Amino acid sequence: MSVKTEPIRIMNTPSSTQAIEHCDVAVIGGGPGGAALATFLARAGHRCIIFERDKFPRYHIGESLIPHTFGIFGRLGLLPLLRASAFPVKHSVRFVSHNGKESTPFYFSETIPGDRARTWQVERSQFDQMMLNHARQNGVGVCERTGIDKVIFDGPRAVGVQTVAADGTRAEVRAKVVVDASGRACVIGNQLGLRSPLPELRKASAWGYFQGAKRLPGIDAGETTMFLIPGGGWFWFIPLPDDIVSVGIVADPEYVFSESDDMEAAFTRETARCAPLADRLSAATRIGPVRGSRHLAYLNRQTCGEGWVMIGDARAFLDPIYSSGLYLALGSAELAAQCIDDSLKHNDPSAARLGAFEPALWKGVDVVRRLIHAFYDPNFSFPKFAERFPEHRAALIDCLIGDVIKDLSAFTAALEEMTPPPPPLGSNLSASPVPQLVAV
Ligand SMILES: Cc1cc2nc3c(=O)[nH]c(=O)nc-3n(C[C@H](O)[C@H](O)[C@H](O)COP(=O)(O)OP(=O)(O)OC[C@H]3O[C@@H](n4cnc5c(N)ncnc54)[C@H](O)[C@@H]3O)c2cc1C
Repeated sequence: MSVKTEPIRIMNTPSSTQAIEHCDVAVIGGGPGGAALATFLARAGHRCIIFERDKFPRYHIGESLIPHTFGIFGRLGLLPLLRASAFPVKHSVRFVSHNGKESTPFYFSETIPGDRARTWQVERSQFDQMMLNHARQNGVGVCERTGIDKVIFDGPRAVGVQTVAADGTRAEVRAKVVVDASGRACVIGNQLGLRSPLPELRKASAWGYFQGAKRLPGIDAGETTMFLIPGGGWFWFIPLPDDIVSVGIVADPEYVFSESDDMEAAFTRETARCAPLADRLSAATRIGPVRGSRHLAYLNRQTCGEGWVMIGDARAFLDPIYSSGLYLALGSAELAAQCIDDSLKHNDPSAARLGAFEPALWKGVDVVRRLIHAFYDPNFSFPKFAERFPEHRAALIDCLIGDVIKDLSAFTAALEEMTPPPPPLGSNLSASPVPQLVAV
């Protein structure tokens, strides 16, 4: 049934618009995952439309990239823009214990040669806009301020999307393939009741921004510093442009909200309590609101079907500890784009063809999940692991830079000798809703 007789119009230039009723691929969400996927597909000659509920630039969390994104940026043609940007260059990660003992920085150049050993700390409103503009320049149609209410199904097959504009008007667009790149909104996951919290990874987070914090000199100026706190929690400290740093805590919800339910109060108390971090922030001023989430981790029990596929955070989100979110969004986008291209060429939108990339991706995600569990295991330490299994040190480093979509079974077997494996991915799931991020 058609909801609105007038099709929605897409703006090609400030003075010309075009009506759209059909496309090859309808992409829900114009974040990094959606923009990357649509860019790859438009270059392969497919007609892609991104439907983005917000108007960019808009705020988003998730600022630290990992080096293995380098190849994807190269294939997208984004490296010249990143190199010309004001985003701080990230060469390393450093851990600081709660009593102030600092690890030697882990420089990516220790294992990666040349330019690939660096990445960037990105201010997301600018970065996401850069990626969306790049998609436009590659021929992708972009409808901003156009949310997707629901995916239209004909029996089990997704055949299009229902759009809702800022003024509330609705329309339908038919598509051969629908991609859910809506991030934590999980449009298809919610519509089909597939999204579940991950009880094994119960972490909360609260974060804010500071101007005037102490920065490290030279090559370390752009590093991610991780401040560890007693009880298994930690803070990120991520330098951004304009003398701003992003600071956030990740810990058990019972810890973060032990004294009050108030996000801002919890964040202020904890930043003051972590002495080495408080020292870095001693001359800084907090700017903007404290934001947070009481439950970070979730996944969907099914991530592709006939005529549809999920990518990025619309599939799953585990934990920010290894800064793997953007890499997994971009990596799943590139892998899914190859399968969608194949599916369109063969006129076969089956789940088997669209989701052919999934087994390899899930294996990679599972390696990241095992490393997350290892990090939170009080009896495990990465230096001790590297000492006991020097032959797996290179694989450990591969995991930490994001190179996880490959066979790492020997490495995970060694890991299991020092920390128990988590329950199989996807077990213990319930269908209860997952809370959204909030700002106070
Ligand atoms: C506390 C925290 C810290 C993090 N830190 C890092 C980090 O340091 N490094 C890192 O790599 N990752 C980090 N992440 C993860 C990172 O934010 C995500 O993995 C990444 O943004 C996923 O990209 P995406 O394109 O899948 O989704 P998103 O970036 O969320 O984009 C989804 C887009 O879909 C749009 N949308 C939503 N609903 C609809 C709808 N109904 N219709 C149309 N459009 C819609 C949204 O407006 C949004 O623009 C962190 C996450 C959290 C929660």
